[in-house]
Amino acid sequence: MTPSSLPVDPFDLVIFGGTGDLAVRKLLPALFHRYLAGQIRAGSRVVGVAREPLDDEGYRALVREALGKAADDTPEQRDAFLALVGYRALDARRDEGWDGLADLLGERPDNIRVFYLSTSPELFVDICERLGRQGLNQGKARVVLEKPIGRDLASANKINDDVGRVFAESQTYRIDHYLGKETVQNLLALRFGNALFEPLWNAGHIDHVQITVAETLGLGRRAGYYDRAGALRDMVQNHMLQLLCMVAMEPPASLAPDAVRDEKLKVLRALRPIDAGNAAQLTVRGQYRAGASEGQGVPGYLEELDGGKSDTETFVALKAEIGNWRWAGVPFYLRTGKRLPERVSEIVVAFKPVPHSIFEGSAGPLGQNRLVLRLQPDEGVKLWLTIKDPGPGGLRLRHVPLDMSFAEAFGVQQPDAYERLILDVVRGNPTLFMRRDEVEAAWRWAGPILAAWAASGEPPRPYTAGSWGPSAAVALIERDGRTWHEDEG
Ligand code: NAP
Repeated sequence: MTPSSLPVDPFDLVIFGGTGDLAVRKLLPALFHRYLAGQIRAGSRVVGVAREPLDDEGYRALVREALGKAADDTPEQRDAFLALVGYRALDARRDEGWDGLADLLGERPDNIRVFYLSTSPELFVDICERLGRQGLNQGKARVVLEKPIGRDLASANKINDDVGRVFAESQTYRIDHYLGKETVQNLLALRFGNALFEPLWNAGHIDHVQITVAETLGLGRRAGYYDRAGALRDMVQNHMLQLLCMVAMEPPASLAPDAVRDEKLKVLRALRPIDAGNAAQLTVRGQYRAGASEGQGVPGYLEELDGGKSDTETFVALKAEIGNWRWAGVPFYLRTGKRLPERVSEIVVAFKPVPHSIFEGSAGPLGQNRLVLRLQPDEGVKLWLTIKDPGPGGLRLRHVPLDMSFAEAFGVQQPDAYERLILDVVRGNPTLFMRRDEVEAAWRWAGPILAAWAASGEPPRPYTAGSWGPSAAVALIERDGRTWHEDEG
C-alpha cells in the first residue's frame, strides 16, 4: 500500500505574492505541515517573492508568525523549516533583479522548480515572460496558476495563451483547491471503489443532486476583486462545476491525469445551455442586505462597499442539467452565497423513492435515501437510510444517517487541500488540476448566464444576511416538488 506521506524529490518553490494573504494563510502553513510529515527533503527551498523590500530574515519572521501555534511541533523543527525559506524582492513589472533569482535557482540545477503565481492574474504574463527570458521555464519547471483564470472566455484564453507562450500545457497547473479536499477524492473512492453505488449512479435511480457552498463571511478584505467577480465567477464557474464533474463523470479507465480530465470535460460539454431564453426560470441571483451573522448584526453588501452602487451577486442558485444518457432529466441544483446561516460545503445525492411501500401509513413516511458528502467543516460522509425504530409496538420507520466523520473515524485532522496539491505539483501529477480545455468549457457554459443577467437589466434579489438567500431560491427547487437538504442530525 502507498504510504500516506512519501517524501518528494528536492524542489525549489518560488511563491510570487509570497507576502500576500493566500501565501501567508494557506501556502506556507501547508508546506510546514508537509515538512513536519517528513515529505519535504533537505535540499528543498521555498522562496517568497514580492515588491516589499525584505531580506531573508525579515521574511522568515513573517513566515514564523504565519505558522502560528496550530501545529504540534518543536522549536527545532520550526527553525529547520524556516532555514529552507528565503526571499527575493522583485517587481513583476520591472526587469531588475530577475538574474538574481536565476542565479539563486541555478545553485541547485537538479531541483524541480515550481513557480506558484499567488498574485493578481494581471501579473501572470509579466512574471512568465521574465521567467522565460531567464530560461527558468526549462527542465523540470512547473507553473501554478491561482484562480481566477479570467472573467470570461476571451480573458481566460488570453491568460492561457500568454502563459502558454512560456510554459507548455504539461507544465501548467491550474489550481482549484476544492479538488484537493479529502471528500472530493473520497467521491472517487466511494464511486469507483465500491460495487454498491455505481449501478445506481444514473437517472434511473438518482432523483437529483444538490451542491451547496455556503459562507457566513461577507466581503472582507477582497472587496475589490469580489465586486468585479460575483458569486457565479468566484464559485460556480470553477469550484462548483468541478464538483459537479466529479459527481457526474463516467468512470475513467484509470486515474491517469488525462483519463480523469477527459471525463470531466465531457460533462462540461454536455451541460445544457442556460441563456437569455431560460435564465429567468433556471437561475436566481441575490445580494445580501443588513442582517445577522453568527449572532452579530452585520451590514449589507452595499454598506460594506462603502455605500457604493453595485449589481454584483453575492448569491446564486441554479438548476443545471446534463444532456447525456446517464443524467437526462436529473436536475443538479447548485447554490452558493455569502452571509448565509452557516459555513458549509456539501454534495447531496438524492435517490429515487422505492417503487411501492409495504408499510402502513401509521409507520410514518419513507425517507429519501441521500448520500451526503461534506467538504467542510468536519469532512465526512453520511448515508441516510430508513430503518425500524427500535422497540416493541407497531412498526415505526425512522430516517437515520450512517455517519462517518473522517476526523473521528481516522483520528487525524484532515490535511488542508493545499498540502496535497502543492506536493502533487512537485510530483508532476496534474490529475487534480484543471486542463485548459476544461476552463474553456466551463466559461462557455457560464458566459451566456452572465450575458443573460446583464441583458435582463434586473438587479439581484435582496436577501437578509443570515438567511438562505432570496425566497426565489427556495421556489426554484420547490417548484419541482423538492427541497434544499437540511441536516436533521
Ligand atoms: P494579496 O493579499 O493582495 O497579495 C498579493 C501579493 O502579490 C502580495 O504579496 C504583493 O506584495 C504581491 N504583488 C503585488 N504586485 C506585485 C508586483 N508588481 N510584483 C511582485 N509582487 C507583487 O492577494 P491574495 O489574496 O494572496 O491572492 C493572490 C491570488 O490568489 C489572487 O489571484 C487571488 O484571486 C487568488 N486567491 C486568493 C485566495 C485567498 O484566500 N486569499 C483564495 C483563492 C484564490 P507586494 O505588494 O509587496 O508586491
